[in-house]
Amino acid sequence: MRAVVIDKPGDIDVGDVPDPAPGPGDVVVAVHACGICGTDLHVVDGEFSLAKYPVVPGHEFAGEVVEVGKHVKGVGVGAMVTADPNQPCGRCRPCREGHENLCEEFRAMGITIPGACAEYVAVPYWLARPLPQGFDMSVGALVEPLSCVVHGYDLIRTRLGDHFLIYGAGTMGLMLVALAQRVGAVSVTVVEPHHQRRQLARSFGASTVVASSVELGDERFNIVIDASGVVPVVEDALGHVQRGGTYLQFGVAPADAKAQFSPYRLYNDETSYVGSMAVLHSFDRARDLAVELDLGLSRLVTDTLPLGSYAKALEQVRAGSGLKVQVAPKEA
Ligand SMILES: [Zn+2]
Ligand SMILES: [Zn+2]
Repeated sequence: MRAVVIDKPGDIDVGDVPDPAPGPGDVVVAVHACGICGTDLHVVDGEFSLAKYPVVPGHEFAGEVVEVGKHVKGVGVGAMVTADPNQPCGRCRPCREGHENLCEEFRAMGITIPGACAEYVAVPYWLARPLPQGFDMSVGALVEPLSCVVHGYDLIRTRLGDHFLIYGAGTMGLMLVALAQRVGAVSVTVVEPHHQRRQLARSFGASTVVASSVELGDERFNIVIDASGVVPVVEDALGHVQRGGTYLQFGVAPADAKAQFSPYRLYNDETSYVGSMAVLHSFDRARDLAVELDLGLSRLVTDTLPLGSYAKALEQVRAGSGLKVQVAPKEA
């Protein structure tokens, strides 16, 4: 089959590799859509310390089951599926305490084991979740990033009638906006410098959109979320948290970045600073939200390229001109 292979950091190859050999509990999925995100850039750039090379990238995907191992239950050939790419060990202390996303033996498709930027990918059947026949597979491939958003909202205490402030209206920021009212927001303010993204933020339910937080003056919000990962933005965001409110660090900053905060304000305002990392017990609910609600997620997919254009797709992600960039291996 054809697949993208990152042989080592900076070395991307698109070529023929052996078809995946399914284990007894695996299904083989013909990949229809596979998204690219910042994590993939880090894997390609050698900035993801847990990555194991060579690796086929791709952890956000959907497609059709074409083969099933002999112990597979409940998923048949022809089923349309997406899958949770994370395969925690279940044995380490974080896993045993319910923090499988923080597993000490990190194992994930597209990072340590073969991912879905390939014509076919094998996945344990219990991680594959069904999608309706005829469902838009590009949206199916958004279930994984959506499950990160669901996890983020799981971690913060929100109340009906809270005022939200979200920095960044990229794919993740817009998904946060799309679900904010579902977790209680009465207003959602978005800070986003790009004009087109500001318009999209409105269409996803933002009540106020501004190009810069300067326009907010000293306004404060119950819930403030950073979906940018940019240090000056983080520092600015902390200044807009209402006393008693919550700040959620959702955006991924560089691993060695440092931001300043006031311990006095953290104490005296009784604010909560919360971090959210990837997916935890949230994949199935994200699947249901994507399938059963009309969130309009297909608007997030701005570019679809053939597998052979993976390097170009990466550059589009890096340039940040569009929103979600996907490859469509089936049409390669
Ligand atoms: Zn991702
Ligand atoms: Zn573990």
